[in-house]
Amino acid sequence: MFATDDTIVALATPPGRGALGIVRISGPLSLEILRAIAPARRSPAPRRATLTRIRAHGSAGGAVDQVIATYFQAPHSFTGEDVIELCAHGSPVVLRTIVRAAVDAGARLARPGEFTLRAFLAGRIDLVQAEAVRDLIAAATPLQARVAFDQLEGTLTQRIAAVDAVLFDLIARLEASLDFPDEGYHFIEADETRRRIAGVIGEIDSLLADAGRGRLIREGATVVLAGRPNVGKSSLFNALAGTDRAIVTSVPGTTRDLITEPVDIHGVAVTLVDTAGARRARDIVEREGVARGEQARRVADLIVVVVDRSEPLTEDDHRLIDETSSRPRLVVANKCDLPPAAALDQAVDVSAATGEGLQGLRCAISSALNGGETGQEPPALTNLRHISLLEEARDSLQRAVDALGATDVPEEFLLTDLHAARNRFDEVVGTRTSDDVLTHIFEKFCIGK
Ligand code: GDP
Repeated sequence: MFATDDTIVALATPPGRGALGIVRISGPLSLEILRAIAPARRSPAPRRATLTRIRAHGSAGGAVDQVIATYFQAPHSFTGEDVIELCAHGSPVVLRTIVRAAVDAGARLARPGEFTLRAFLAGRIDLVQAEAVRDLIAAATPLQARVAFDQLEGTLTQRIAAVDAVLFDLIARLEASLDFPDEGYHFIEADETRRRIAGVIGEIDSLLADAGRGRLIREGATVVLAGRPNVGKSSLFNALAGTDRAIVTSVPGTTRDLITEPVDIHGVAVTLVDTAGARRARDIVEREGVARGEQARRVADLIVVVVDRSEPLTEDDHRLIDETSSRPRLVVANKCDLPPAAALDQAVDVSAATGEGLQGLRCAISSALNGGETGQEPPALTNLRHISLLEEARDSLQRAVDALGATDVPEEFLLTDLHAARNRFDEVVGTRTSDDVLTHIFEKFCIGK
């Protein structure tokens, strides 16, 4: 389904102005295209940066830009094909002209993720690594980048390969026992079989144990600030976000729409949302704002209910605390720089004005999002696709262990379960993956990746 015999071109750097911009060409015509658009040059030596002029219409046209061309000869390139990278000045006009010139010379515009797809199809990287390329590019926090890079380096792939090798060996020995039943010859005893499968289950469990945190790191979370007007939500929002994004006034009801800002909270990419104060709205705009706030709370991964500790709690405060009690939520007692008027159990004391308690609040948010777990090593497993497949593999292996315990379960059944587990491993790393799954994964890439 995926054509790889043509030559593709795309801008590899973000659109817009910059010091430099890179156009990437990959496929069998790469060198020919370079000769057509940089006619003055002889073929460049592989892996050598070469200064050259690009001409839009072959030798007849004027020079468009002076670029550094690098030729990566197949199979020693990212895609495994002949690749040319042209590092030009970062002018959108120049870069568009170079891409157009490459198309005129026989290239086709690349689809999203097509360079990485070709790298995968050529066996340069596996599917986990291809997905890690996308995650690394999309990372918004250093921790997200770190876990994606670990996967790109092959840490998850290696752990899966190790357990897969155990199953491969086990299957071979069980099949040999089946092939020679008359000799009464067993290539492996039931006890050892059970012990080895249990070892594989243990390794999968240790990967899955961190998976919730891994998903949180990869996918990020939405944290919604809620509270009646004037308790200091916008001040807290600005303090956590480190910006003056939300308007802070002593006039109640200033925030009337949702305001969002990305914030790094202990490595988790949090979308922080400030909402209109929860109270009976005074006008139609405020009513709409309050409704949006309620909707935001419904989809939040965590609700932070803010109250003003310097005043006795009001009915609105109590109602919000009660309404959110069945949801993941934190109660924050703001304005702790002022004399307290309200005593609150299990609230995090902060002062948005002085910054006191903010560090504690970040810890409380991170710990609430992580379901109490904090501060371990970066998790190996982060992607829901991998998590689901490993859970299925684990179930198959558990069935195999159960079958071993039962009398009269034929060895063929055991083998079916072991093969099923190996198939799930294959799907994770992509040795057995349908075109639909690949299309689904790669269409989420940007063009040029
Ligand atoms: P919101 O309506 O809940 O978003 O509240 P704002 O952030 O607009 O704050 C309402 C008022 O409380 C403003 O006058 C703030 O300056 C003040 N305020 C907010 N946080 C604190 C705090 O921690 N201490 C003190 N003393 N005042 C605060």
